[in-house]
Amino acid sequence: MFENKKKYNRVSFILTDASPAFANTLRRLIMDEVPTLAIEDVEFRKNTSVLYDEIIAHRLGLIPLATDIDSYKLPEECTCKGEGCSQCQVHFSLKAKGPGMVYASELVSKDPKIIPVFPKTPIVKLGKGQVLELEATAVLGKGQNHVKWSPGMAYYKYKPQIELAKGIPNPKEVVQSCPVDVYDLKNNQVAINKDNELRCHLCGNCVDVAPNHVKLNESDKEFVFFVESWGQLSAKEMVERSLEIFKKKLDDFCEHLNA
Ligand SMILES: [Zn+2]
Repeated sequence: MFENKKKYNRVSFILTDASPAFANTLRRLIMDEVPTLAIEDVEFRKNTSVLYDEIIAHRLGLIPLATDIDSYKLPEECTCKGEGCSQCQVHFSLKAKGPGMVYASELVSKDPKIIPVFPKTPIVKLGKGQVLELEATAVLGKGQNHVKWSPGMAYYKYKPQIELAKGIPNPKEVVQSCPVDVYDLKNNQVAINKDNELRCHLCGNCVDVAPNHVKLNESDKEFVFFVESWGQLSAKEMVERSLEIFKKKLDDFCEHLNA
């Protein structure tokens, strides 16, 4: 791991001894199959705001909810068989009266651990005398069914491999050609700046200015991996959980082979 920014809920790491297929599997598992909680059903008691019920329901669905992934089950895996119970659902209620903005923080959750990640998310602005009253149900789901359940973004790039030959005739030009400052000038020679090396996005400017002395390749065994969370889970949890899901899929596969 070369970066773990808790403040931005982001991690990055180098994936080694892997293949493009494995890196892409991990990316897809993180974004599509790591479950989170999101509001799925909304029952309106009163809505005299300027927005239709459907628009408010859609907005509620997209509010990221802090997800305690160990305490909840996917409806299809729950003992209630998808009927809805306290193990697979969280209920919310909201009562607001205008004038004023209704924020996500006004959703009252039955489970104090499951609350909106960003309390200042606006839902609707109510005019004088306007009322909004509703009950909502959040369930665990996967990003492959609706992006509201996706825990965040995962992406990667092939790790750059830079080779510098000795005696580059135009070192200054090579250093200046790089938009992400991968090179430093040391004793009038080009040197790789180790702090910035991974920022290389293989644009090839350096090769264009010194084609006989700079070689730029991408590794198909090493990947620079980035994971960013929308807030429901930590970026670390997203990676850990995706690996568990992967392992379970492989176990299931083996079981079927042996059957
Ligand atoms: Zn259930």
